Amino acid sequence: MNTHQRFRFALWILLSLSIFASSAWAGVRQLDATAMDQEPLILTTHVGLLEDPSRALTLVDVRSAEVAGRFRVEQAASASFALGFTRSAYWFRLDIGNSSDQALNRLLVVDNPRISHVDAYLPDEQGGYRAWRTGADRPQTSKAYDNRNFVFPLYLAAHSQQAVYLRVESSIGLLVPLQLWSVGGFQAYEREDYMARSGYMGIAVAMILFNLMLFIALRERIYLLYVTFVLCAVCALTIKNGMAPDWTLFGLPLNSNVAYYSGASLALSGMLLFMRSMLQTARLLPRVDRWLLALVALYLASPLLYAVALPQVSRVAVVVNLLTAFVMMGVALACALKRQRSAYFFLAAFGLLILGGATTSLRAMGILPTNAFTVDGLQIGSSLEMLLLAFALADRINVMRQEKLQAQARLLQTQEQLVQSLQRSERELEARVAERTEALQVLNSRLETLSLTDALTSIANRRHFDEVLAKEWKRAQRMGEPLALAVVDVDWFKAYNDHYGHLAGDSCLQQVALALATTISRSSDLVARYGGEEFVFLAPATSLASAQGMAEKLVQSVAALALPHVRSPLGHVSISVGVTAMQAEAELPLQTLLQRADAALYRAKALGRNRVEVG
Ligand code: GH3
Ligand code: MG
Ligand code: MG
Repeated sequence: MNTHQRFRFALWILLSLSIFASSAWAGVRQLDATAMDQEPLILTTHVGLLEDPSRALTLVDVRSAEVAGRFRVEQAASASFALGFTRSAYWFRLDIGNSSDQALNRLLVVDNPRISHVDAYLPDEQGGYRAWRTGADRPQTSKAYDNRNFVFPLYLAAHSQQAVYLRVESSIGLLVPLQLWSVGGFQAYEREDYMARSGYMGIAVAMILFNLMLFIALRERIYLLYVTFVLCAVCALTIKNGMAPDWTLFGLPLNSNVAYYSGASLALSGMLLFMRSMLQTARLLPRVDRWLLALVALYLASPLLYAVALPQVSRVAVVVNLLTAFVMMGVALACALKRQRSAYFFLAAFGLLILGGATTSLRAMGILPTNAFTVDGLQIGSSLEMLLLAFALADRINVMRQEKLQAQARLLQTQEQLVQSLQRSERELEARVAERTEALQVLNSRLETLSLTDALTSIANRRHFDEVLAKEWKRAQRMGEPLALAVVDVDWFKAYNDHYGHLAGDSCLQQVALALATTISRSSDLVARYGGEEFVFLAPATSLASAQGMAEKLVQSVAALALPHVRSPLGHVSISVGVTAMQAEAELPLQTLLQRADAALYRAKALGRNRVEVG
């Protein structure tokens, strides 16, 4: 073979090799890493992808000509490979070259800290491969570069090219954003990235501490629920972001994806409990409330399930979490429709969180551009949610204070009304008592009058006479004055009754009584009906002579009535009077006065009636 032939052979070999390569390595362009600025290069359309359902392929296998031909290239440009919940392992192959005269340092970045296993095979100086076996299920020390993500340094010698292999598999959803960075660009990004995360952490810590203090001060459970929720949410997000690797539980290493899912479950149960308390679902939606409690119980139990079988349940868990978000939105909406003030805040807060989550997801799908808002959408949404909910809690204090003030005002008003009505009823009672007292006094005086008055003749009765007599007797004794007493008896009255009848007798007695009463002129004198047709006449401080004179007048006044009495020798009604007067002496009994008057009356009767006798 001459030189020419040799050259042709070499050309043929090269050509057939390139044809072979292009057929096996369909569409993959050699990536030139020479010209790079601060921005990352998205590798989605630059790498070949191979699914390994058996998870058994090794580097040697995938480099073999037989398997190498099965690598396929994504045509659609998106920020990451969204491979879903799969048990398969995936291999990536990146052909990268340096066309410049200088050696280059580049960083291969897998921008998702949640991938369980990330194995990178990087060419070494000796023409072999150096393996980096790292991932979320492995300790932080396994990382090639100490970052929250998986970062692999690439050394590209001048005018060189190499194939880099990456193998990933995960117990949860597999999302692989592959990027190539210049070292300086990545370091600048790293600073901003950590600042954004510490800003979020700062807000969360402030919210936790502030609401913890509120809980200590106010002793209201809702603040503790808020703190629990934020604490769990922050823990879950921190683990999710790869900021807190290497979890241990009682000294045993804890799988960080299990910790992440458990943290999310605890955060959701805290959120549900907080929502129940804030929206008062037990009162507003009692039936839904019981289901919410059941959901909380499920979430509290879920970490056990994750610990045992995360790869099997992770897909279901994501669906349940999504459904829970819908349930919470629904409950908040129902409460808002019932005009629950806190529900408005809750809806707004939750809306912001969902908006943030959606922004992050849409960016991951390549629909939204990458910028400060879309990259950290979830964290910004989460921060705003925490702030809005804290604001809602503050608003709740305000509402409760106003309610308390209103209740106090109502109480005061009620008290005033009570006092007023008490005063009114007291006045009414007093008036009624006065009215009754007056009526009673009238009644009493009427009763007294009645008890002292004779029913037939309407002049003083025997009881009245007895009282006055006793009083006057004592007074006479005290003053040493004479007391005059006359006993009056209607003559032949039995006969009158017999002849004219009892009713006519009563009428006669009335006229006699009237005549006697009208004849007495002195107010101190008393005429009373003593009983039957007998009357008495009492005259204090009166001598026997003047008493006799008055008795005469009585006899005349009755005679002057000229009441016909056919059975009387006189032919008209007449009276006889026995008069006596005594200088009262201490030892003399009252009866003596009556006995003397009676004796005088007896004499008047005996001496012919219609006359006055003294004794
Ligand atoms: P003398 O002149 O001796 O007094 O005769 P007299 O008939 O009046 O005697 P006496 O005292 O025995 O009779 C009294 C009569 O008076 C007896 C009774 O029927 C009558 N009398 C007593 N009280 C009443 C009364 O309230 N109404 C009437 N209609 N009669 C009475
Ligand atoms: Mg008599
Ligand atoms: Mg008589």
